[in-house]
Amino acid sequence: MITLKQHLLAHRHSLGMGRCSCGHPDDPERKTIAGVQDDHAAHVAATWREARIVRTVEDLDMLPAMTIIRYPVDFIDHSMVYERFVDSATGETGWFLGEEVVRILPASLPALVVWTPEDVA
Ligand SMILES: [Zn+2]
Repeated sequence: MITLKQHLLAHRHSLGMGRCSCGHPDDPERKTIAGVQDDHAAHVAATWREARIVRTVEDLDMLPAMTIIRYPVDFIDHSMVYERFVDSATGETGWFLGEEVVRILPASLPALVVWTPEDVA
């Protein structure tokens, strides 16, 4: 899972180049530095959210213990927050909803990764 630091490094903006380091061009309608910066901030925010979306159970299974997700993302009004657990003694993995162990249903994906331990590494 990409961290915020990695994401920001992948989306550095250069006023001189007129685009983001990922290749996303500046909006030609933005005529001021503040306008360009605002547009770039919106681009980074949108790509950040997309980078934190998990679409498959296989990708969910790769997330480390203590990862927090919001799911299902497509029904945000009805989504809940889940925490990944990995039992080091048995190897059992799963998701806590509160204190309950629950299954994440593939048909209801994607999920949004809110936080992983990698974020503070
Ligand atoms: Zn970019």
